[in-house]
Order: sequence, then structure tokens, then C-alpha cells
Amino acid sequence: MANYGELRVVSDLDDVHADTATRVIEFTNRLYRPAASPLTLEDYNDHFAEMWGVDTDETMRRWGIFCKEWMANVTPMEGAGQTQRDMPRNAHMEILTARDAESSGDATRLWVSRHLARVSGVNFANVGWGKNADAHKRTKREELILMKPHMFIEDQPRHLTSLVDLPIRDLVVFTRPWNRGLSHPRIMRVSSQAVLSELIQERAAEKLVEAERAA
Ligand SMILES: [Mg+2]
Repeated sequence: MANYGELRVVSDLDDVHADTATRVIEFTNRLYRPAASPLTLEDYNDHFAEMWGVDTDETMRRWGIFCKEWMANVTPMEGAGQTQRDMPRNAHMEILTARDAESSGDATRLWVSRHLARVSGVNFANVGWGKNADAHKRTKREELILMKPHMFIEDQPRHLTSLVDLPIRDLVVFTRPWNRGLSHPRIMRVSSQAVLSELIQERAAEKLVEAERAA
């Protein structure tokens, strides 16, 4: 009975499990900012062309360097490894990322396989980001309609607010500086991996109870 009491979790990668923003800010300051005016995490914008103030070609060139030389050193968010270790057997997690599959697919899969032992798949919402500057603004909605998770975890407000009418039980915002202003009755806030882990364990236990009742 493969689906007995299964909890399906879909999660964003960057700044939920991977502390990518911190590394991107370091990369930006090291290579592209004068020492006197470094960016901080408060300045982070995942639309890199906007954050860097450069065109799409230059954005892709810089992102290529990041993927090749910096991505492997992105550290997991605090507690992310423990969340993986504590994930119940009936919980299944897949990643849904807005990263571009063409430019960052290999580096992303490698990072996930090294750090997120219980993730069973990596899905890319964007293909060909480098050829379309606005592709990065797309939502993850179309993919989630097909994936039908019970829980979706994300740090970017624009993705979450596009999902509030979908039948996903738990829409979870993972607290980062850029989502402090997000408040919606459909969206639950978690402030750490430890809290997220508890929520996954609780929901997975509920799924087993539901399955037993239905049997
Ligand atoms: Mg993210």
C-alpha cells in the first residue's frame, strides 16, 4: 500500500533549506560592490537583475559564476539537516524551485543530494530564465496544481499569495527579512526549521490516523 497515510510536502529550496541569500550577498559584495557600501541581507532581492542593477546577459554571466564557484558552498539553513533526519516515514518531500533548470539544474541537484537526504525530487518552475528577464517573476502555481501537495513551504510572498485559492491544506511561509509584512488567513508562519519539523511530524501523524479510520 504505497500511498497509505502519505503526507505530500512540496517545498521551495532557497532560503527555506538552503541559506542561499547569505551566500549571494557575500558573492555580490566580494566581486561587485565597493568595500564602502556592501549589501546586507535586508537588501536581498531574488530578482538578481534588479538587485544588481544590470541587464539579463550580465545577470546570467554572474549567475553562471555563482553556480560554478559558489553554489557548492551554500550552507543549509540552521536545523535543515535535523528536519530531514526527523521526517516521518510516511512524509514525502519534493523541491519546487524558481531557479532556472538550464543554468543551475546540475548544481542544484548536486546540492540537494548532498544536504537533503529525504527529498525525492527536484522540480524547476522556470526553464530558459536567461532568455526572458520576466521568467523569474512567474509563480509556481501551475506546477502546484499538478503536484497537489498537502503542504507547501516558501519564503517569497509573491509565490504564496498566488496559491491562496488552491486546496493545499498548509501554505507555510518560512520567515526571512523580506516576508515580514506577509499576513494572510490562509498562510501559516514558521520561524525556524525546528518549528517546521514539528509541523511536518504533526501532519504526518494525522495522515496515519485518517488512513486507519478509513481502512
Ligand atoms: Mg526561496
